[in-house]
Amino acid sequence: MTTEIGHYIGGTHTKGTSGLGGEVFNPATGKQTAYVDFASTDEVNTAVAAAKAAFPDWADTPPIRRARLMNRFLQLLKENQDKLAEAITAEHGKVFTDAQGEVQRGIDIVEFACGIPQLLKGDFTDQVSRGIDNWTLRQPLGVCAGITPFNFPIMVPMWMFPVAIAAGNTFVLKPSPTDPTPALMVADLMKEAGFPDGVFNVVQGDKVAVDALIKHPDVLAISFVGSTPIANYIYETGARHGKRVQALGGAKNHMLVMPDADLEKTVDALVGAAYGSAGERCMAISVATLVGDVADKIIPMLVERTKTLNVTNGLDLKAEMGPIVTRGALDRITGCIEKGVSEGADLLVDGRGYSVEGFEGGYWLGGTLFDNVQPGMSLHSEEIFGPVLSCVRVDSFADGIDLINNHEFGNGVSLFTRDGNVAREFGRRVQVGMVGINVPIPVPMAWHGFGGWKKSLFGDMHAYGEEGVRFYTKQKSIMQRWPESIEKGSEFIMPTAK
Ligand code: NAD
Repeated sequence: MTTEIGHYIGGTHTKGTSGLGGEVFNPATGKQTAYVDFASTDEVNTAVAAAKAAFPDWADTPPIRRARLMNRFLQLLKENQDKLAEAITAEHGKVFTDAQGEVQRGIDIVEFACGIPQLLKGDFTDQVSRGIDNWTLRQPLGVCAGITPFNFPIMVPMWMFPVAIAAGNTFVLKPSPTDPTPALMVADLMKEAGFPDGVFNVVQGDKVAVDALIKHPDVLAISFVGSTPIANYIYETGARHGKRVQALGGAKNHMLVMPDADLEKTVDALVGAAYGSAGERCMAISVATLVGDVADKIIPMLVERTKTLNVTNGLDLKAEMGPIVTRGALDRITGCIEKGVSEGADLLVDGRGYSVEGFEGGYWLGGTLFDNVQPGMSLHSEEIFGPVLSCVRVDSFADGIDLINNHEFGNGVSLFTRDGNVAREFGRRVQVGMVGINVPIPVPMAWHGFGGWKKSLFGDMHAYGEEGVRFYTKQKSIMQRWPESIEKGSEFIMPTAK
């Protein structure tokens, strides 16, 4: 019998009633492991109603008490880290140690959210005019929603709901239907931590559920992470319905390698950043931009490392890369490789046709490496989201910067060099939101906030960090005096400080 994965609404696990749903697979075996229910508009409305009902009490709960529950949740996450990581690997396929790292990066955000009393502290000015004080405070919005991608089923939801909930909001999460189980495990931990019913809810589903959330009059803020066309759609539709929206989209991240870079360490960094998690990370490096003669030195080393990658079941602790997430994604990435060949790029290592003994039904693709990729080729312009690394040769640092700055995406970027001045210029001139200097995947820590530029983010607030706190709260300014300070008579001119 196939396991049925349902929703979590108002503190209770519920089976879907829409009659719609999708199959869930283990990508390493290609076998179906579960069936996930897809919420109808009515089911989404029920979840939003539960979140709305929980809001007044939760918003009135002192921040220190909300933080104490977050602390308890933090403890439970730590105790269950390996179970959560196993659940990620079972439905996503990424290697177990990488999944443990994903959970840890989610835990970091919860640790940040535990400091919410400090983060919500307002500003106060004594005596803005005679006998008048003025202060600002930040208040929660109400029901917030999160719509998340398949590639980080724990970490990306945790970019959102811990900050939103600690700030006094209630939350409805719509995870990816590809790997829906971890969100429900998190819901159980939230319940065990003592969060009141309705504060955190999960609805499974697809476009129907998403549309119901982004148009719902009681949902006041939408956080989205996923591909650029959907991010754009969510941003426009959410804004048209009067909501705050932060919609993080796709990426095409470059690593600029200068001739003075340490070759071995650069190759280590490139291989890990291109093929880790099978390239299914929005911060994966997919373009190695090689300056001058460094290309001739580095490419033979990359070929060697790409050919010897250990691609196998993610639960094998020696695995460096697991399977591709779905059969559909495997076919799509294979199509991108075919197109790259037909456009004239040099395919140096071909990962197609890969198979793993004992896991013949899995969605396998070996590391794939192209050289002489040119701007304008689809390998350079499109997001592939798979283990495909494209090398683009450029003559100079300035050409490398131009190549990166002319790209429509601006999520992450990295520079490998020993030259401090080049590093400084790079950091200042590059048109990308998250920059690594000799750091291949510069995912900002919990208190710095995450967000790309250009078509990698629609909206103006980054996820988590202080930007996250601002996104999930609205500022109020209060000006106050007491009757003893009020002068007699009406004032008809714009009040100024006296
Ligand atoms: P996706 O855009 O297909 O799906 C993301 C979410 O949107 C899912 O919950 C999905 O159910 C929903 N969705 C899909 N189609 C929809 C539609 N037509 N209408 C409404 N909702 C819809 O993305 P994915 O394949 O799950 O994830 C991979 C993508 O996410 C990549 O493009 C990757 O770069 C991006 N991503 C970006 C970041 C970032 O921080 N910028 C982080 C992780 C992933």
